[in-house]
Amino acid sequence: MALRVGVVGGGQLARMMIAPAVELGIELRVLAEEEGMAASLAAAAVGDYRDASTVLEFAREVDVLTFDHEHVPQDVLAALVAAGVPVHPGPDPLQFAQDKLLMRARLQELGMPQPEWAAVTDSEQLQAFLDAHGGRAVLKTPRGGYDGKGVRVVSNAAEAEDWFAALAEDARGGGLLVEELVDFTRELAQQIARSPSGEVRAYPVVETVQRDGVCAEVIAPAPHAAGRLSDVAAQIGVGVAEGLGVTGMLAVELFETTDQRLLVNELAMRPHNSGHWTQDGALTSQFEQHLRAVLDLPLGDAAASATWSVMVNILGGPAEGTLDERFAAAMAAHPAAKLHTYGKSPRPGRKVGHVNVIGDDLDEVAYQARAAASLFLD
Ligand code: ADP
Repeated sequence: MALRVGVVGGGQLARMMIAPAVELGIELRVLAEEEGMAASLAAAAVGDYRDASTVLEFAREVDVLTFDHEHVPQDVLAALVAAGVPVHPGPDPLQFAQDKLLMRARLQELGMPQPEWAAVTDSEQLQAFLDAHGGRAVLKTPRGGYDGKGVRVVSNAAEAEDWFAALAEDARGGGLLVEELVDFTRELAQQIARSPSGEVRAYPVVETVQRDGVCAEVIAPAPHAAGRLSDVAAQIGVGVAEGLGVTGMLAVELFETTDQRLLVNELAMRPHNSGHWTQDGALTSQFEQHLRAVLDLPLGDAAASATWSVMVNILGGPAEGTLDERFAAAMAAHPAAKLHTYGKSPRPGRKVGHVNVIGDDLDEVAYQARAAASLFLD
């Protein structure tokens, strides 16, 4: 009988697991939040991932459960584990991807390099941190932030009054995370695959370019990172994966500082936007690798298969019409570009697809990827 993987969440990450699942003859089932989501072309059930009985019912039909996002509540995860469902990544590592304060505290215990940080529950504590760190800092809500939402640069405690007020009303309590404003030259991402039996593979470290808090493009491998920098990134990635017991794909977002240090920004325990280039530029794509890892199969080679890969996100899409109306023009002008779309309708800022280009000349590869992606915008 075919191996069966259940993915909680029906977004584009689940969607992009479908092709490698089909190639391997793995049966992929999806628990989507609503009808018509990106991953609905797989065998998709619709249900609320916050409801334990819904997720347990879904899990009965699969051999292992994994995720398209990190939002499944801990009590639901605990119910799955109690019922004997293999869950990868498990509840323990996942809590560190769900809560940035827990992550900072645990990474500190593991001795990982990271920005200076503190948990603050009121304006006095925030002001004290600001005074001790040059008058500016980055304030973050520990939970529920994404794409830069829930992240704010502050230079005065008064700028955070609304967040402290919301905190006071939140029954869960806790604090906000404040971090030193890191003087970084660029952002990098290190992806690691780890299986339940402990096999680990590190992908080449990549450079990620963010615009307005959203990943815009990725260059693989990160330019000028060969040698020491990429070794240190891989060591950090493996240290985090093993230290937290992550199973499946892990992405460690890093800052490269002006004084050549690497600091951990945040973690994602699933395939990640920084790894979309692997679909066309690596021996094993992150989506195939995630399936292999959660099924505890031997992992694939994570080496790049091209000298350079550039991934450019299609953010928003055209104001009028659909993405496929642009296919003919993009395909004719850029026959080397690989187009990936998520079956989502265009909306400002929304990630609706991406373009991968691989080759030997980075300038040319980047040009082709950017030019092809731009044909899907107005
Ligand atoms: P999200 O969870 O929304 O992705 P992040 O914690 O990754 O939030 O922060 C979003 C962006 O804000 C980062 O990509 C980076 O550009 C900037 N940022 C975050 N933390 C810091 C920091 N301590 N110093 C400087 N910039 C930061």
